[in-house]
Amino acid sequence: MTFSGPLLLGLTGYPLQHSLSPVLHTAALRACGLEGRYDLFPIAPDRIQDLELLLVRLRQGKLHGLNVTIPHKQVVLPMLDDLTPSARMIRAVNTLYMNGSRLVGDNTDAPGFLADLQRQDAPKSGEALVLGAGGAARAVVAALQSNGWRVSLAARRSEPAFLMQAEFPGLRVMPLTSAGLAAWQPASAVLIVNATSVGMAPHINESPWPVGIPLPAHAFVYDLVYNPAETALLKTARQAGLVGCNGLGMLVEQAALAFERWVGSVGLTLPQAPQLAMLQAVKIQ
Ligand code: NAP
Repeated sequence: MTFSGPLLLGLTGYPLQHSLSPVLHTAALRACGLEGRYDLFPIAPDRIQDLELLLVRLRQGKLHGLNVTIPHKQVVLPMLDDLTPSARMIRAVNTLYMNGSRLVGDNTDAPGFLADLQRQDAPKSGEALVLGAGGAARAVVAALQSNGWRVSLAARRSEPAFLMQAEFPGLRVMPLTSAGLAAWQPASAVLIVNATSVGMAPHINESPWPVGIPLPAHAFVYDLVYNPAETALLKTARQAGLVGCNGLGMLVEQAALAFERWVGSVGLTLPQAPQLAMLQAVKIQ
């Protein structure tokens, strides 16, 4: 049976008012000439039964695709039938859809990051240093390791870093301090990825990079933060003559991959790649 729209999509998490996802996905629907809409379903952390009810709507076909964000990215895992390899490795999901009668959880942050990194004028392999040990850091480490990078991780708290070390074989961890980085000899890194939230508006003058340690002389600096467009870390990198980028490209790529999954799950194929329309939509915000 052919799908005859509208494509009903949405996002759950809490809070949701600053999310760019409605803009991104509305642009994708329009660019692909598909009828549909993208709604917000804010669900507070103490309302888990509402999350379960929302998933029933997916199972019943009353919703065709759902994005999941903080604080439900991990909470939702036991409510799903299947996880994609990426979601299993990261142990968090950001995209849900039906595959026949099975509710699938996927994580498009990892392939979204890789897709954007590969488009940049950045090294293709070598030694990478990831800052942070939260959900985004897990996606970045999974993506880099699966692409052959040697990965080290510097984090403020040791507990999540050591948990990640146990889950990602070969991962070196260190404190995100001047002493921690000095002991590690960061000069060997050709890629630095900020996967902390440091530097995000309104705290635009803050940088996750410890003072007193120079940035590695040949590193590409990838900041997952995209607001402001030039973070304090990217500014320091530029002043040191290094090249880098913010996380806007990753934001678009992970959203485009989610959109592609949803369109595919109802038996349609994308008439065109929606990335350009999505990027233009968020740039004029
Ligand atoms: P998260 O799970 O809350 O993790 C945040 C991480 O930042 C934790 O490791 C936290 O360390 C660290 N951190 C916070 N403040 C710090 C500070 N002052 N110094 C050192 N470390 C600090 O959040 P997330 O989902 O991983 O997201 C992280 C960032 O990536 C956010 O800015 C998010 O917007 C961005 N992101 C962008 C994209 C994209 O598509 N561009 C996708 C996903 C996420 P502690 O554990 O010590 O608190």
